[in-house]
Amino acid sequence: MDKRFSTLIVSGFSVLLVLGLGMSFFLHQKLQERVDAAAAETLLLDQTRVRLRDAQVDFLVMAQQVADVLIDPDPGIAFGEKNSRRQHAFDNAMLDTSAALAATQNTELKKTLEKLIEHAREIMHPLGEKIIFLAITDLDASKIFYWRGFIPAQAENMALIDDAIRLSSDELRSFSEKANQATVEAQFIARVVFFLFACLGFAIAIFAGRALIHLEQELRLKATYDSLTGLFNRGTIIEILRKAIARHERKANPLSIILADLDHFKQTNDTYGHPVGDQVLREVAERGKQALRPYDSFGRYGGEEFVIVLPDCGAAGAVAIAERVRSAIADRPIATASGAISTSLSLGVAVSDGKNPLDFVNLIQLADGAMYKAKEKGRNRVVCADTSSLKHAFSTPANSVPE
Ligand code: GH3
Ligand code: MG
Ligand code: MG
Repeated sequence: MDKRFSTLIVSGFSVLLVLGLGMSFFLHQKLQERVDAAAAETLLLDQTRVRLRDAQVDFLVMAQQVADVLIDPDPGIAFGEKNSRRQHAFDNAMLDTSAALAATQNTELKKTLEKLIEHAREIMHPLGEKIIFLAITDLDASKIFYWRGFIPAQAENMALIDDAIRLSSDELRSFSEKANQATVEAQFIARVVFFLFACLGFAIAIFAGRALIHLEQELRLKATYDSLTGLFNRGTIIEILRKAIARHERKANPLSIILADLDHFKQTNDTYGHPVGDQVLREVAERGKQALRPYDSFGRYGGEEFVIVLPDCGAAGAVAIAERVRSAIADRPIATASGAISTSLSLGVAVSDGKNPLDFVNLIQLADGAMYKAKEKGRNRVVCADTSSLKHAFSTPANSVPE
């Protein structure tokens, strides 16, 4: 497999992984910030509510003190103390209400609280002065008159603070719902993003895997076969021959090879052009394959030279097969774009018997010599190299016999 390609794939994967992790981390941070903000806001709202409840109690205490001041038959000593308690409760109520006002973001609640503060100040401050006046003059009728005015004012105060508490409770409830909703959404988004990344990674893994398998197959095909004829290429047929020789040496079975070369092929190219020459080469390969046994191996050795490896095949069998190949080419013209073209092969056969096995170089040299002998004898024929006497056997188109 191409090393650069696999490096590219691995780098691509790594970059994607780092990107995915980075994005997930970033998203997680953002979601965490939202959840933290929601928690802080909830706390603030809760504090607002607590403050308002305190203010409510303060207003009630204040009303009680006012009542005590007005009803007390001996205001001399008690009055100052009671009035200062009243003032204290009022101040506390104002403090809590102002704190709640500062804490809330809700505009309706803000308005209610502002109204409450204004209203409470209006009626409470002059009250102190009035009580002093009433205490000095000690006019029961005036007390009753004041008390009548105070009760609705106090009731209005309590109504306002009730409103404020209700508003803050509503706000808290709706905010809690929103926060819950935000959490659910955040979880959903996180899951979707995770799922998308997982899918993307899976798809890329499948795509890259398929691309790699395809590339490997293509490379293996290119490394094994000849692209023009589809026969084994030179490297593969040599490898097949070496293995066949090793097996033949061990088992002592005969082994034959055929070296075949197209006759006057240069002329074919010169006359009809290279593309037509290619067509001829392809058809020669096709017809040659048909003439062989299933366990024979047919390879393109060079330009218009072929090697056929015939395992477990002695001289007679090899010459017969070579003759079949020869006649398959020569007996029928080849149909090409430029019309039917007659061509032929010269074939040299070399045989190694089990008793005295030949090595690779010897076998090729013998087959090559026999093939050149066939050329010399007039081409379109089979010549079998005689290994024992190192004489050559040859065949004519009519018959193929040892010389
Ligand atoms: P001989 O009978 O003596 O073998 O003559 P020849 O013309 O076949 O031999 P020569 O070695 O002079 O020419 C071989 C030619 O094969 C030359 C080259 O252009 C041609 N050839 C080699 N490979 C290819 C190929 O892939 N396609 C085509 N069209 N021609 C090729
Ligand atoms: Mg040649
Ligand atoms: Mg030739």
